[in-house]
Amino acid sequence: MTETRIPLSRPDLSAAEVEEVLGVLRTPFLSMGPKVTEFEQHFAAFLGVQHAVAVANGTCGLHLALRAVGVGPGTEVLTTPFTFVATANAILVAGGRPVFVDIEAQTLNVTPDGVATVIARDYVPREVGLPIVHDTCESFGSLFRSAEKGAWISEAQLADAAVYAFYPNKQITTGEGGMVVTADAAIAERCRMERNQGRRHGSDWLDHEGLGFNYRMDELSAALGVAQLRRVEELLARRARVAQWYDEALAPLPEVERPRAAPWAQVAWFVYVIRLRRGITRDAVIAHLAAGGIAAKPYFPPVHLMPHLRALGYREGDFPVAEDVAGRTIALPFFNALTHDQVMDVASTLREAIYANVEA
Ligand SMILES: *Cc1c(COP(=O)(O)O)cnc(C)c1O
Repeated sequence: MTETRIPLSRPDLSAAEVEEVLGVLRTPFLSMGPKVTEFEQHFAAFLGVQHAVAVANGTCGLHLALRAVGVGPGTEVLTTPFTFVATANAILVAGGRPVFVDIEAQTLNVTPDGVATVIARDYVPREVGLPIVHDTCESFGSLFRSAEKGAWISEAQLADAAVYAFYPNKQITTGEGGMVVTADAAIAERCRMERNQGRRHGSDWLDHEGLGFNYRMDELSAALGVAQLRRVEELLARRARVAQWYDEALAPLPEVERPRAAPWAQVAWFVYVIRLRRGITRDAVIAHLAAGGIAAKPYFPPVHLMPHLRALGYREGDFPVAEDVAGRTIALPFFNALTHDQVMDVASTLREAIYANVEA
């Protein structure tokens, strides 16, 4: 095994984060204390939403949000096959059935038209609005231009609930952690109760009003989040700078399609995912990079082709755009401390890898 010289990701932590976490260790409050509340308040203010409920990770945040908008046994939930598996798993854990909608090839997202087409084809179109939960676990800090409001808004403001995640590779990290955000007080209240074993705020330790879980965020994680959030503009700007370097370094490679933002979006960079032209053996390119000490990953493998979703009847060919894209994508090393020299190194090794693996 070649030693990895350039890893896929790495958190960006400063002395301020260390101090903030040590501060918690000097108090008796390691859970259910003031830091979680502080993190929630700052987070909600940053996104411009009313309620933020901190949880133990993004996956359990999705579980709570789905339950709070009414997903239960038998509920069909329209979702994307081109995502991290937690999106679909949270639907399954809530008792629902993921119903995949193919993505659109430029943004790699499910579109409103795509969803409308599936509803018209498979369901009785209804006048009532369906609740929307956004898996925003990869897009903290991104903005959309709202035609309605004529302003840039966070995608949290476009859904009934949105769920963020703070694993160490995300834009901001708490180690493990997540956040449900919503403008709806009832959704927020239900998430607060269910993250805490079904207890209502201020009620006794053994008073449970319904089903609940232990999905609480601890105080150390929240402290890390508070400190990271204070640096959020710097953290996002550093990511954007690395993305810009990649963009320039890869521009001369016609075999590589670089990520592009739609005109109505401002990207908050999470990963840097390229697409190879058809006819290049993607997995061999990844192996070539690995041999050069550069970590890279297919991103994402299609969710509907994982064993537990195939078991529901999904097959190759069901979602051609997602499958075509998924067969050609590579996530390159992407983190704030990546230097310009390292980006150039990745770009030249990638170039070699591509020319060595063009199918005859
Ligand atoms: C990171 C991520 C999650 C949640 O991840 P956790 O590890 O549970 O915090 C969910 N969905 C997507 C798309 C993600 O990238």
